[in-house]
Amino acid sequence: MPELPEVETVARQLQAVLPGEKVSRVLIKDARLGVTRPNRLCGYSIRSVERMGKQVVISFDKGTASLYAAIHLRMTGRLTWIPKLRGRRKPDARASDKAAFYYNDVDSYSNAPARASFFCSNGELRFSDVRRFGTLELSEDKSAFIPVGAEPLERSFNKTRLWEMLQSSGQEIKLWLLRQDKIVGIGNIYASEILFRAGISPKRAANSLSSSETEVLCRSIKAILRSAIARCGTTFSDFQDSKGELGSYQTFLKVYKKEGEQCTRCGAGIIREKSQGRSTFFCPACQR
Ligand SMILES: [Zn+2]
Repeated sequence: MPELPEVETVARQLQAVLPGEKVSRVLIKDARLGVTRPNRLCGYSIRSVERMGKQVVISFDKGTASLYAAIHLRMTGRLTWIPKLRGRRKPDARASDKAAFYYNDVDSYSNAPARASFFCSNGELRFSDVRRFGTLELSEDKSAFIPVGAEPLERSFNKTRLWEMLQSSGQEIKLWLLRQDKIVGIGNIYASEILFRAGISPKRAANSLSSSETEVLCRSIKAILRSAIARCGTTFSDFQDSKGELGSYQTFLKVYKKEGEQCTRCGAGIIREKSQGRSTFFCPACQR
């Protein structure tokens, strides 16, 4: 499951190539997506691509009108930009494919079948998704996609805000960090890494943290997420960024899936424990 840094990475990569692209056709191949009138996007140009919570949100403009598409990648969703190859024709093109563009070696970009394709002036934006848990929504109202939880990288998310949020919960801090209705985009990998960096035991009650521990936790949340974004996101199993490259952060993880290895800070053995079905990795010596 991609976490905030992975989604941010996809959004940034698409933001580098998509703005200015004009949509000529939208093909929904998977009816389960439930998108109504996808071709209302025809003639719209892409203005920007950004992350909102764990969704990739694409803004489209036509004159003064705006439309927005939100894609939630979930387990195996992938957004791939496939540039059009100039001057090439597929020999068996059917009449209905006339508006389509032709490429070779599509597999090198994406080996999963498309659930939706946005055909644009210079290529195709393809949403593929082997397990089909991902979602695609269109709306004229961008605020429909604002997540419930706080955006941890925004300036308004600070020690004071986090402190207020923690007071109402006696839940284990590790499980609390995973709650998307509290903070968006933190999953099992980064929750473990954040608590290791902060030196806080995952089993502490959320409302037991002192003011200074809350400050360290707030800094750790931002630092771990920023450093993961800088390294293009951790890559596990099916997740790949939009260029089909593997993230390089994996090698920088300190505790996640490191059970039995030595803590890089104190040398004690990293432990793996399960809490409510989720594995938690931590150092029992320096996380208190
Ligand atoms: Zn340690």
